[in-house]
Amino acid sequence: MTHHTALTVALKQLKIAAEKLDLDPGIHEILKKPKRSLIVSVTIKMDDCSIGVFNGCRVQHWDVRGPFKGGLRYHPNVTLDDVTALAMWMTWKCAIADLPYGGAKGGISCNPKKMSQGELERLTRRYVSLIFNYLGPHRDVPAPDVYTNEQTMAWIMDTYSQLKGYSVPESVTGKPIEIGGSEGRVCATSRGVALCAREAAKILKLNLKNATVAVQGYGNVGYNAASIMHSMGCKIIAVSDSSGGICCPDGINPDEVRAHKLKTGSVINYKNCTNITNAELLETKCDILVPAALQNQIKKDNADKIRAKIVAEGANGPTTPEADKVLYERGTCLIPDILANSGGVTVSYFEWVQNLTREHWTLEEVNKKLENKITKAFYDVYNLSKKEESDMRTAALMLGVGRVAQAIRTLDLWP
Ligand code: NAD
Repeated sequence: MTHHTALTVALKQLKIAAEKLDLDPGIHEILKKPKRSLIVSVTIKMDDCSIGVFNGCRVQHWDVRGPFKGGLRYHPNVTLDDVTALAMWMTWKCAIADLPYGGAKGGISCNPKKMSQGELERLTRRYVSLIFNYLGPHRDVPAPDVYTNEQTMAWIMDTYSQLKGYSVPESVTGKPIEIGGSEGRVCATSRGVALCAREAAKILKLNLKNATVAVQGYGNVGYNAASIMHSMGCKIIAVSDSSGGICCPDGINPDEVRAHKLKTGSVINYKNCTNITNAELLETKCDILVPAALQNQIKKDNADKIRAKIVAEGANGPTTPEADKVLYERGTCLIPDILANSGGVTVSYFEWVQNLTREHWTLEEVNKKLENKITKAFYDVYNLSKKEESDMRTAALMLGVGRVAQAIRTLDLWP
């Protein structure tokens, strides 16, 4: 059986797109590797006065369409290869959403659940100081990802600004509103997932009212997706987090489950629900499945057990290429990550534009612009998939890789 890492998946996807596009082999070679990978040792004083040494990195894939943009992940298992794959996906994602950005991603291998706020703050500030010369509003603009949040982004903005000597809100996105964050950013990734699922449901003639939904991962993306889809009339029948999941055929109230998770640390053991495993969650009979945790969840060995009609990928890289094939052959409508979760970077772009122009848009304005942009991207990808008789992932990759390749050809190589 093929052993997958996020990077082997990303490279395989690039190969599929390169073949379909009949891409120049030289350009394919360029796109296989990031333009720059920074590896840093993040050394901080822990609360008990011992010294903590953490591996950190920032991978900048390609910036031919604009400055680098991408999240920062804190996770014990994060590797340079994972971050490289995530940076590559960001490049395609920005191109599909037609944003003037290139792809990047950062990671620090640490266990944030076992660290105090003070330790996380020192970790974040030290990390920023180590890669400071390669950051900036016109170089590379970080954003939140797994186990980083608005507070982390505030520390990044402050550290960057202190080192510059003046306030630079446009140096990072996903900030709290009071320091230049955008309305609608916290929910943007999930709103995009929900809007894509809505369009897919229209195509499948599936009524969203009482459509059943299962969500894997109950963090920023998973919880907000459940909440927005609930407000669209869907019934949320199963959710999970790293401790396990819960199932309730009558549907749960996402906010009440959120309150339960905040109180107890997990969604499990919630009233009137059956506890299930994460594997069972993925196999739940439902109309819409939203993977919103980590990569490599739907694989060859469980793909034929997925019973959802629509899979809307909130997480990055939850499905392997073999599983893609199985799902496509079974007629599952899979909305790929690089399209489905592009709402986050889209509103990050809106935040950056607001910061650069010193404006602040209303929530209605932000949500309307997001809806226009992601719906257009959805139909660009969907129509290409019909034309190419391919799954939506292949079409999305063709669109994203094709646009980046075109930019490389236009700029040409210097010197
Ligand atoms: P988060 O830290 O807020 O939440 C992650 C959730 O996943 C938590 O509920 C955690 O318990 C759960 N989880 C972790 N390991 C798990 C496991 N093995 N099985 C099941 N659940 C598990 O992170 P997030 O920002 O919501 O990101 C989730 C996914 O969405 C990631 O793949 C991320 O790259 C992707 N994403 C996030 C954004 C964004 O704007 N935050 C944008 C695009 C894509």
